[in-house]
Amino acid sequence: MDDQRYFSTRKDAPIAQLDRASACGAEGWWFEPTWAHVFSPHAMSAKLDEQYMREALKEAERALAAREKPVGAVVIHKTQVVGRAHHQTRTLKDPTAHAAIIAITQAATALQPDQLATASLYVTQEPCCMCVGAALLAGVSRLVLGVDDAKQGACGSVIDIPGNERLNRRLLVMRGVLAPECLAILRKATIGARL
Ligand SMILES: [Zn+2]
Repeated sequence: MDDQRYFSTRKDAPIAQLDRASACGAEGWWFEPTWAHVFSPHAMSAKLDEQYMREALKEAERALAAREKPVGAVVIHKTQVVGRAHHQTRTLKDPTAHAAIIAITQAATALQPDQLATASLYVTQEPCCMCVGAALLAGVSRLVLGVDDAKQGACGSVIDIPGNERLNRRLLVMRGVLAPECLAILRKATIGARL
C-alpha cells in the first residue's frame, strides 16, 4: 500500500472532479495523517464520523448559498475525501444531481473499483431511492446519514432498501450523526422558502 498516496497532506493533490461537481476550494480535501490509524470503514469512531459529516455540512452550506436544497455529501476512502458535492438539481437542471450521486460519481472516478468497498458515504439527509441505489451499485460498504427524511428516505423512513435481504449487496447504515445540525440547515431553507 502506498501510504503517501492516502495520507498525503498536500493541499494541491489531484482528485477527480466532474464538470457538474461543485467548485470546491482546496480546503478540506485532505486530512491530517494523525488519523491514519483508521483503516476499516466499519471501525470509524464517532468522532471521525462527526468530522466527516461536518465536511458534508460544508457542502450543504454551499447548496444553501446557491438556493438549492441544502444537502451535502462526501465519500471517504481511508482518511481521504474522494468525493464531495451538494444538491444541484436547479443549478444543473438535472433531477438526478443529488449530492450523494455526484459524490459517488467522483469517488468512482478517483478510486479503483475494488476500493469503493472500503469507502464510506456521508450524507446530511437520509438519501432517496436513487442515491441508495447508486451507493449499492457502487459497492460502497457504509452509509452515514444525518437527519432522517420522512418524505423520501430510503433507509427506513419511507422504505428500507439497505434492509432488503433479497438484494445481493449489503450496506451498513449509521444514522443520526450531527442530526440537529443537519436539520437546522434544512430549516434555514424552509424559512427562506427555498425548498
Ligand atoms: Zn437522492
